[in-house]
Amino acid sequence: MDIKLLNKDKEKVSFIIKNTDNVFVNTLRRNITSNVPTMAIDTVKFIKNSSALYDEILAHRLGLVVLKTDLKSYSLKTESKSKKSSTTELLLTLDCKGPCTVYAEDLKSKDPKVKPVYPKTVIVKLDKNQELKLEATAVLGTGKQHAKFSPGLMWYQGYPNINISKPNASGVTEAVKVCPTKVFRAENKQLKVHDMDKCILCMACVDLLGENVISVKGSNEDFIVNLESWGQLKHNEILEKAVEVMDEKLDDFTDEIKKIK
Ligand code: SF4
Repeated sequence: MDIKLLNKDKEKVSFIIKNTDNVFVNTLRRNITSNVPTMAIDTVKFIKNSSALYDEILAHRLGLVVLKTDLKSYSLKTESKSKKSSTTELLLTLDCKGPCTVYAEDLKSKDPKVKPVYPKTVIVKLDKNQELKLEATAVLGTGKQHAKFSPGLMWYQGYPNINISKPNASGVTEAVKVCPTKVFRAENKQLKVHDMDKCILCMACVDLLGENVISVKGSNEDFIVNLESWGQLKHNEILEKAVEVMDEKLDDFTDEIKKIK
């Protein structure tokens, strides 16, 4: 298996995985969405709420506040017995009096490493004489329990294989224009592939020129993978944890298999 980085920025990474199959890539995707843990607010104790919103609406909003996650110091409640040193929950407090806008940054965390990633997320607006005072408990959880714990979104496609059998066919200029990701360029009135990695398999070029001129097919062995983090964890932390989870599941499976020998 080979991996080649295509591009990355703070939120998103794209890379090619070669010599694998759909099962492996899809298992990685499912593990990221469902089994990589992050911190999120899970319970809220309202001490005072005279805002225009009910407790339930505010609790729901607080649950969706993206929290920076420290996987080294916290563990899932189900794992806490095996990892005696790590903590399972964190208290955040909020105490605001109107008139003001209450933002995620108004949540005061007892752990400076775990705090809102997007400080200006609006929780509620308070009018004059309105007040909001609460204690929120954040825990480590997985996307399998609730989508608020998902660390990001991974999607993938087969690596494109573009075959131009009639590069001089009419419609070269239109094909360059119709491709939404600028895969082609025209050279001496001939259609040339300029950047294969950008093809999203939309088939607009095939619809325009016909299958007797061009064919586009996604590979079943090589894949372009995109991963967008919601902010709780960095891309590399998400990928490393997903692989660790896959490893643990296979170890468990191996142990069970040994028992039936
Ligand atoms: S399939 Fe779509 S993205 Fe790929 S080359 Fe054709 S028009 Fe461009």
